[in-house]
Amino acid sequence: MQHLFLYCVDIASVFSNRSPDYLLILQIMKKLVVLTGAGMSAESGIRTFRDSNGLWEEYDVMEVASIEGWHKNPELMLRFYNERRKQMYACQPNRGHLLLAELEKEFEVHIITQNIDNLHEMAGSSNVIHLHGELSKARSSADPTLVYTIGNREILMGEKCGKGSQLRPFIVWFGEEVPAMADAVPLVESADILCIIGTSLNVYPAAGLLHYAPNGCPVFLIDPNPPKDLSRRIQVIAKGAGEGVEELSIKLRTLT
Ligand code: NAD
Repeated sequence: MQHLFLYCVDIASVFSNRSPDYLLILQIMKKLVVLTGAGMSAESGIRTFRDSNGLWEEYDVMEVASIEGWHKNPELMLRFYNERRKQMYACQPNRGHLLLAELEKEFEVHIITQNIDNLHEMAGSSNVIHLHGELSKARSSADPTLVYTIGNREILMGEKCGKGSQLRPFIVWFGEEVPAMADAVPLVESADILCIIGTSLNVYPAAGLLHYAPNGCPVFLIDPNPPKDLSRRIQVIAKGAGEGVEELSIKLRTLT
């Protein structure tokens, strides 16, 4: 399960024997798979869904996060996600996001996020899978494969895709398939270490990913208010994302 990475500092100098400092460094990096949820972005100022003062206290989830909601009131849905997009672009990655990006120096890091913000990418993480879509993209309402990068601009009623149907947010809503699971499952199955950050593990199929971790794979969970009924094999770090990833980084170094 370990993955071999070859670091070439300066290949020409290796062959010319120019300097001992310029060596081909062969290193084995462990595969660290990180599953994140809304709590990952809480310290960046983006509210979670289920905490007190979370978004779901203000909105009916089925109105703003289900395919039925879209069919019933697309204007409301567009307005809701236009607001979320505007908010995301006013936010910065937090210490937790930045530390996860830094861990790429020591681990082969893969992030699987339920978040629709792009704060992991903004922090510098290279391998990010978005299970539930991305605010910075729009898609055709007729063809899910027709996806457009829109950045921070709004999607308006009447705006059409190349095939003539209304543009909608590139978000996976309740009642829709989660195509990115096909990439996420083999990643978790091949993890050397799994870390779960800031998710109530209530939304499936994302929450089920935990069960694909191989036997013997250490599993960490960072959450100031961790879900109850966790299996005993999970090592809980009951802290927020920033402090929690800092503690995780220290613990990971003892595993290598
Ligand atoms: P959730 O709201 O159900 O759970 C959030 C979890 O984060 C809770 O367990 C809470 O204790 C924890 N938390 C709160 N503050 C934290 C902190 N500072 N550091 C670490 N953890 C903290 O969220 P969920 O499980 O991700 O599921 C909700 C759904 O809502 C997801 O599908 C997600 O796509 C969507 N969502 C996304 C965003 C975003 O993109 N930033 C924001 C809200 C909701």
